Amino acid sequence: MNAKQLQEIKSLLSSPQKIAIVTHWSPDGDAMGSSLGFYNYLIKKKHKVTVITPNDYPSFLYWLPGNKKVIDFSKKPKPAKTAIAEANIIFCLDFNSIKRIDALGDEIAKSKAAKCIIDHHLQPENFADYMLHDVNACSTCELVFDFIELMDDKKYIHKDIANCLYTGIMTDTGSFRFPSTKAKTHRIIAELIEAGAENSPIHDRIYDDNTEDKLRLLGYCLAEKLTVLKEYNTAFFHLRDDELKRFNYKKGDTEGLVNYALSIKDICFSAFFVERDGVIKTSFRSKGNFNVNLFARKHFDGGGHANAAGGMSDLTLDECIIKFISLLADYKNDLNSSSSPSDKKTLSSKKPGKSKKK
Ligand code: 5GP
Ligand code: MN
Repeated sequence: MNAKQLQEIKSLLSSPQKIAIVTHWSPDGDAMGSSLGFYNYLIKKKHKVTVITPNDYPSFLYWLPGNKKVIDFSKKPKPAKTAIAEANIIFCLDFNSIKRIDALGDEIAKSKAAKCIIDHHLQPENFADYMLHDVNACSTCELVFDFIELMDDKKYIHKDIANCLYTGIMTDTGSFRFPSTKAKTHRIIAELIEAGAENSPIHDRIYDDNTEDKLRLLGYCLAEKLTVLKEYNTAFFHLRDDELKRFNYKKGDTEGLVNYALSIKDICFSAFFVERDGVIKTSFRSKGNFNVNLFARKHFDGGGHANAAGGMSDLTLDECIIKFISLLADYKNDLNSSSSPSDKKTLSSKKPGKSKKK
């Protein structure tokens, strides 16, 4: 966002506005944390704000302050459409491609409101008037924090805002472990804790909210559904609808599963394929320089980040798996040269006893 745009947004927000905040399909911790963190900030500034999601999200996010006010477009299209039609500013958070919000995209396209994208995904589409976009940001929550700072409004960050933003930063950085976690990330986190973010309870609410069914589904996947292709440093899971039903699947129950495949020594590419709403939803993760955003874009109608991406396919689950495995041959060199094994070498190559004493 250049200085002129910043001034325009500042003056737009200097008096109470009708604002809609929209986030992506199947919202995750960053989508909801950023949307509700921003919501709590904007209502503090006396704006009239509605948060709209294209569909539902995992129940471990329902505790987020402001959650009760969220409108799920798939369940309540009428009030969602009204809020968008009435809004004079629409903020699009944690996505940058109109496809990511499904039918809600038509409503956004129809609206004459000023539109602003706040996002950190690669290759943004240009459908907005303003854009605070940074692929180096660890999360959209980090950018919402930046936005509030740009507005000279850090003084308004209270406990509810801090809890929301902490949540998205925590979930999108894999609890502060992904390479996207920078010194700046920890500085923001420190400020959020000072503003009241309850770090330990947030970890409990997000990660220790498992049902017995979810844990048993995880056990089943690990024991029986993991395929490891050592030749390609790749591992993946796939789940059929009947398997989901057997474990009384609820939204969020497979969240994080794809990371278990990536935790195997020397694996640098992991995938998860699941039957959902009549299509196959795919998730991809990688370590090192194997770019799953490009892979998802090219082959599975998706996108995301270099090390975490997703997509969709109209193929059957079996066809998807065949397609995926056959694609790996084309990437064999990349998969064998990417990644963590060399990172580990770098770490272990330091000679013992040479480190500087403090
Ligand atoms: P997940 O695998 O957790 O669903 O998504 C991983 C990352 O890829 C997230 O940043 C998410 O926003 C992005 N992503 C997931 N599915 C899609 C998709 O179908 N299209 C695009 N463009 N991005 C996706
Ligand atoms: Mn995000």
